[in-house]
Amino acid sequence: MCGIVGYIGPKEAYPILMKGLHRLEYRGYDSAGVALMDQEIKLYKQKGKVSELEAFVKGKDVKGTVGIAHTRWATHGEPSQINAHPHFSETKTLAIIHNGIIENYSVIREELKRRGYHFSSDTDTEVLVHLIEDIKFNEKVPLEEAVRIALTQVVGAYAIVIMSKLSPNKLIAARKGSPLVVGIGNEEFFIASDATPIVEYTKDVVYLDDEEIAIVERDKELSIIDIRKETKTPYVQKLEMSLSELEKGGYDHFMLKEIFEQPRAIKDSMRGRLNAPLGIVKLGGIIDYEQKLAKAKRILITACGTSWHAGLVGEYLFEDLARIPVEVEYASEFRYRNPVIYEDDVVLVISQSGETADSLAAIDIAKRNGATILGICNVVGSSIPRQTHAGVYTHAGPEIGVASTKAFTAQVTILTLMALRAAQLRNTISTTRFNQLINELDIIPEKIEAILRQNDKIKKIAAKFKDSRNFLYLGRGYNFPVALEGALKLKEISYIHAEGYPAAEMKHGPIALIDKEMPIVFIATRRGMYEKVITNIQEVKARNGVIIAIATKGDKEVAKMVDYLIEIPDADEVLVPLLAVIPLQLLSYYIAVMLKRNVDQPRNLAKSVTVE
Ligand code: GLU
Repeated sequence: MCGIVGYIGPKEAYPILMKGLHRLEYRGYDSAGVALMDQEIKLYKQKGKVSELEAFVKGKDVKGTVGIAHTRWATHGEPSQINAHPHFSETKTLAIIHNGIIENYSVIREELKRRGYHFSSDTDTEVLVHLIEDIKFNEKVPLEEAVRIALTQVVGAYAIVIMSKLSPNKLIAARKGSPLVVGIGNEEFFIASDATPIVEYTKDVVYLDDEEIAIVERDKELSIIDIRKETKTPYVQKLEMSLSELEKGGYDHFMLKEIFEQPRAIKDSMRGRLNAPLGIVKLGGIIDYEQKLAKAKRILITACGTSWHAGLVGEYLFEDLARIPVEVEYASEFRYRNPVIYEDDVVLVISQSGETADSLAAIDIAKRNGATILGICNVVGSSIPRQTHAGVYTHAGPEIGVASTKAFTAQVTILTLMALRAAQLRNTISTTRFNQLINELDIIPEKIEAILRQNDKIKKIAAKFKDSRNFLYLGRGYNFPVALEGALKLKEISYIHAEGYPAAEMKHGPIALIDKEMPIVFIATRRGMYEKVITNIQEVKARNGVIIAIATKGDKEVAKMVDYLIEIPDADEVLVPLLAVIPLQLLSYYIAVMLKRNVDQPRNLAKSVTVE
């Protein structure tokens, strides 16, 4: 994963690089480093977070108007000062930062060792910088050409930036499979893994494509070639993101801010797409493909993590409303299990970052089999939207907390709109039901506001359960994926073990876990399989389980059976996931805060999983 920043221009690079690293820290945070151009390249790195690097660098010489910096999420070699990036070449002439994995690193490493190169780290990255130096030395070519030749020899994924003390006014950046953006300012350039380190300096950006190499040079125009040496014309785009979206805005954590942003994120995701008074659902991004969607023999939804849970909600939606069979697949399994894909399948890829490596690979396979590929992503200009035939952006705004919240509800919103539109085209829904659902969807943001107002109550419940070591989350039908998502949220940020299960499945195993120490979170809303869930609650009660229920407002029956109750407004069963997940997010958040966890950057995780 990791975050990359580079700067070249008239300003001091160090503060820009550090600010950039803080913005990118969600991508990885086990070690960090910076290299600055001077007579020699000054290189500082440190294990731990960016703040630890800053403390380490304090008082040292950080002068320089050209630099590169990195925050790492280790794949090869433990998180340590030695393995942190940047990495020097043998002669310390070159320094590199890298995001991704060089798969054939060990073969190249052995060969380079034979040629006398020394390796000081366990990373795959160091191989690349030595290789570039070796090529440069032997071929006597300019830096960009040495980089290009080296990249033709490596297998794997990379976003890299390289500096050379022999070309002190130049940075070379390249990507394949990992994102990279170049910002074009006033006589200055920025390079970063995403646009967040760039937005306060310039709105003009160029997203590099796979196998492109950018030559970023002081007093020159940006030039791009690809690894086959073809010249590319940079396509300059305007950033739509604003700086305030990247700040905490008075909240203690990004995660809390993002939970509270959900009414807005959902509204923005529906804007221009849902016109409830006129009874219209129009998805501009897939308009040319909506007939394909409606005629699909099957929809294959592929995703990872929380997006996979959104995909499961999608399965219920498409099957229930549009009567299209759906399979939901973990992208990491799908890509390797020789899946059967037909030309009249629609493959729907869901990813917040739009960079998820396994999901990108799934697209590749689906494409080779001739399927139509649609995407649901949050980050504009990211790789997945560029690889799919068409797609719909979730307008959730930048999601910085590692545990996904607003991206999930925005994804479910888009899936609901897609399923409704497909149902309309296939005539599997009556106009009355269609209108009823879109009118209800239209007011979901206000209902979420009402749940958010119960913040203090949820916090009190969190205090009661913060020391529990295991949780079980149960739901049925549309609420089953919500149970999975609730459990995942708790695991991710509190490190408490939690499992989500379909409530009825409990009898086939997890019921053995239940005792008075084990909190059970039931999603027991009045619609759908309400009576069945009530029976499941009885079964837990009979075994002394402690029950926290998410129930429909005013439901007396659930209220008298359970130990703790969180009420949510009534809504059609189809739309309940958008509401039921909110208290679960808050519950996890407060438990994690009370346990003093690093909520926005939980251990071992990173936001955008660009390695497989
Ligand atoms: N594979 C490289 C390493 O382990 C880069 C990992 C990353 O993307 O952070 O250092």
